[in-house]
Amino acid sequence: MKNKYIARKHWNFKVPPLSKTNEMAKRHDDVIDLSIGDPDYPADRECIRLMYEDVVENGHTRYTEFLGDEDLRNKTREWYEEDYGFSFESDEIIITSGGTHAMYLVMESILDEGDEVIAIAPYYIYYKPQIELPKGKLVVYNTRSEDNFDVDVDELEKLITSRTKAIIINSPNNPSGKVYSEENIRGIIDLAEKHDFLVIADDIYAALNYTENVKPICAYEEKPERVVTIYSYSKDFSMPGLRLGHIIADRELVTCIRNVNESVNFTISSMSQRLGIYAIERRREIQKGLYEEYRKRIFYCYDRIKNIENMSCSNPEGTFYLFVNIKDTGLTSMEIWERILDDAHVLVLPGSGFGEAGEGFVRIACTVGIEKLGEAFDRLEKMDIFGKTE
Ligand code: PLP
Repeated sequence: MKNKYIARKHWNFKVPPLSKTNEMAKRHDDVIDLSIGDPDYPADRECIRLMYEDVVENGHTRYTEFLGDEDLRNKTREWYEEDYGFSFESDEIIITSGGTHAMYLVMESILDEGDEVIAIAPYYIYYKPQIELPKGKLVVYNTRSEDNFDVDVDELEKLITSRTKAIIINSPNNPSGKVYSEENIRGIIDLAEKHDFLVIADDIYAALNYTENVKPICAYEEKPERVVTIYSYSKDFSMPGLRLGHIIADRELVTCIRNVNESVNFTISSMSQRLGIYAIERRREIQKGLYEEYRKRIFYCYDRIKNIENMSCSNPEGTFYLFVNIKDTGLTSMEIWERILDDAHVLVLPGSGFGEAGEGFVRIACTVGIEKLGEAFDRLEKMDIFGKTE
């Protein structure tokens, strides 16, 4: 029986498989957890020290402005100007509690019931509920590993209807690690111009890009108009528990988002926002360390995968995820998820949680150091469905 107090619209609300990982990690005593993208890489201590000093000296524990701490917004503007040559005004950015909050606010602000948002699959698990909570409709464009997860813009155009409000591009991509080519991105922006919808760039892995194509999507235009940028300090600065991010968009949309957020979150943690200022100041040092560590980890795993039977994956281009093809085992990704946990005591994520295009894959997150990753692969190699190729 349904609890009569629960709103009807939420009766059939399904949480993604990710929600089960906390309890699954406890199933065995020695589980190596490579599921959620929450790596062991520590946040920069110097930033934390500077933030504490600042908060103690200057009492930053009050509400900030509704758009966010003005110093942080200005620091963010300097950062985009210096690194990408992209300019925006201080009322074209709003600080958020990370990427999840940012995406929800954008969806809530742009969608009327039945409006459509296109996601390129495999896509980040929470896009579906983020679109559906405000009564929008997720429209999926499937890519294939055989095509290197590239987008065929002519095929994509066939999905556009009069209700299309936006497309999400997440590059580097979770879960595939794909970095979309400049040609793909330009093609999608041109489509958005032609059919008048928004391009939402989920840039949360911007600093973890191992290709030459590092230009953020916002920098394809002069000022925020067609492109809405979502950013978070969770991955690029390894501060996921801090809950800090931002949205850059045109002034009218930012004003709407700000109005919506007043009823959702009022303002963002003032201390986290001060930390953001120091993170931006120290970004080069912080991100150099992160980049080198994750690059080492991901290419180590890639090399191990190449030597395991019934596993394959594309050359890593970004993020700290590997999207591993396990179709040759003949098992579904849900079956193999359980099997890997119970046989090898390694917790990954099933590819099917990332949309239909993810069936036949598992996602491995390089959340632990090389030594532990090595142990995880030693265990995987011993499973009867895998085994070493040489
Ligand atoms: N977008 C993508 C593609 C992600 O992978 C994640 C987290 O894993 C998020 C958004 C949300 O991150 P957060 O809410 O921690 O900023």
